[in-house]
Amino acid sequence: MRVELIPSSQPASDRQFLVSYLIDDRLAIDAGSIGLLADLGRQEAVEHVFITHQHIDHIASLPIFLENVYEPGPKSVEVLADPTVLQFLHNDLFNGRIWPDFLALSTPDDPFLITVPLEAEQTVERAGLTVTPIPVSHAVPTLGLVVDDGESAVAFPSDTGPTDRLWDYLAGVERLRAVFLEVSFPDSMAELAGLSGHHCTTTFAAELAKLQRDVRWIVVHRKPRYAEQIAAELAALALPNVELVQPGQVYEFLAPGH
Ligand SMILES: [Zn+2]
Ligand SMILES: [Zn+2]
Repeated sequence: MRVELIPSSQPASDRQFLVSYLIDDRLAIDAGSIGLLADLGRQEAVEHVFITHQHIDHIASLPIFLENVYEPGPKSVEVLADPTVLQFLHNDLFNGRIWPDFLALSTPDDPFLITVPLEAEQTVERAGLTVTPIPVSHAVPTLGLVVDDGESAVAFPSDTGPTDRLWDYLAGVERLRAVFLEVSFPDSMAELAGLSGHHCTTTFAAELAKLQRDVRWIVVHRKPRYAEQIAAELAALALPNVELVQPGQVYEFLAPGH
């Protein structure tokens, strides 16, 4: 499985303002930066966009992306999310004011997007991958996603503070290779992290202990203003298998023995 966190700064840097992962070219998780890819062919290759929750850093470029890849005819991008999130997208984004009402304008022969409701713990198959949504613990209802290609599985908890069900579920996922877990705040802002449903460095470290697995922990979602402080705190903890994400880098996860 190939995974890339799409850069959201220009020029590309390790500063992350927005969230979009591209998986095996055809599947995306969140639409914060997917519409910013300079290579339009890469945008056009994306067939399925999973939205974990409606916060703007996760949907910011969705209208632009859909505009970029639209072509007349029955073929269309699929947007998959919890039904309430799909409703928010319609009411608050594709409402004829912020952006055209792509849902009302869509017909079966010529859709701008196709929406598919996701249900917690109900696995869906797309682009040769299985994707299982697991609710996590954020300020608004949010679905973490576990993606499996049959050889390796990777977890994308999205925005979350301390949570439990995801780790219980992952304990049973033999092929798990990596978790892209957030640390939004440094420990000096632990209270705000708690109020907003995010991790600070200390609560992040506690999650690793809950899973107790030999997997790569790839740190994402550091608020740019605190990114260096978080990096220093993580370095001081010297946790094994923890690395900072490099936006634009392609991570390849293979079955053992490859
Ligand atoms: Zn959020
Ligand atoms: Zn976020």
